[in-house]
Amino acid sequence: MKISDKLAAKQTFSFEIFPPKGELPLEKAYEVAGSLAAHKPDWISVTYSAGGSGNSENTVDIAEAIEKRLGTTSLAHLTCMGATAADVDRYAGRLEAAGVQNILALRGDRRPDRDVVDFEHASDLIAYLRQAHPDFCIGAACYPEGHVESPTEESDFEALYKKQEEGADYLVSQLFFSNEDFYRFREKCLRHRIKLPIVVGIMPFTSVKQIQRMAFNCGASIPAKVVKRLVQAGDDPQSQAQAGIEYACEQLCDLAANGVDGLHVYSMNKPSIADAAASALASCGYLDE
Ligand code: FAD
Repeated sequence: MKISDKLAAKQTFSFEIFPPKGELPLEKAYEVAGSLAAHKPDWISVTYSAGGSGNSENTVDIAEAIEKRLGTTSLAHLTCMGATAADVDRYAGRLEAAGVQNILALRGDRRPDRDVVDFEHASDLIAYLRQAHPDFCIGAACYPEGHVESPTEESDFEALYKKQEEGADYLVSQLFFSNEDFYRFREKCLRHRIKLPIVVGIMPFTSVKQIQRMAFNCGASIPAKVVKRLVQAGDDPQSQAQAGIEYACEQLCDLAANGVDGLHVYSMNKPSIADAAASALASCGYLDE
């Protein structure tokens, strides 16, 4: 089913999974997907990693298994940095054959070994998909605190508007740790004539190291209230991870109470994170018990 149809009907709940890297067998990903699907999410998205870890092939296999083995809607990510139109055609063909109707159209991170070939920005990929593969429902990324490369906030909103104009059906947000940043962003979207539904992505922090890496990679700011939680958790890794899950659950319930279009949990292939998120959202009435 198309995600745009689900968003038109209700506030959604979804998870992200990433394909196994290195030696991890594909069966392991199916197992993780199975435990996420048990919460009856509206969809499960599958990330895409071009080059490097070489697991982009697995994205389609996992998305297909989510649809066919688990009877759950899947969303396949696709990055276009370094890709040709023929690469995109092949990928779209595989998805069509697998019964996957949803693509998250992304540029991907800049890397020295990857030149722009046929697509410079995600909006170019969206335009191409819209014209060459019109049956897909297309999602795109948005950045409540701005994309790390954007010189100005205005240029980021211009880029986002372009994604809408080229035919994106909805947006999925980058992670953030302060909901106020999201509420401000949502208002600014309206002022910039961006009217697409926004699915909010939340990722729990799991350790001091991990949150520092996320802050650097995604440009997410770390509010004082998060620093305090980590300090109070002390040096114990389990206490730090627990603090992160609790904080993310509070974020999710606050977002639910503030009328978001959808909630997407970056569960990092950890069923325990999905379990905690689903149970928090059931207790605050966003999900049925
Ligand atoms: P773009 O929209 O191309 O934006 C990149 C930069 O260029 C921004 O600064 C933007 O303001 C600017 N820009 C855009 N259009 C124009 C224009 N026309 N003119 C001038 N400037 C412009 N990465 C992966 O590798 N695999 C994944 O599976 C993956 N999943 C993700 C899922 C979500 C929900 C999010 C938020 C990110 C994901 N990423 C993933 C990371 C993503 O690839 C990076 O954030 C990447 O740096 C930007 O991708 P984009 O699609 O937003 O690119």
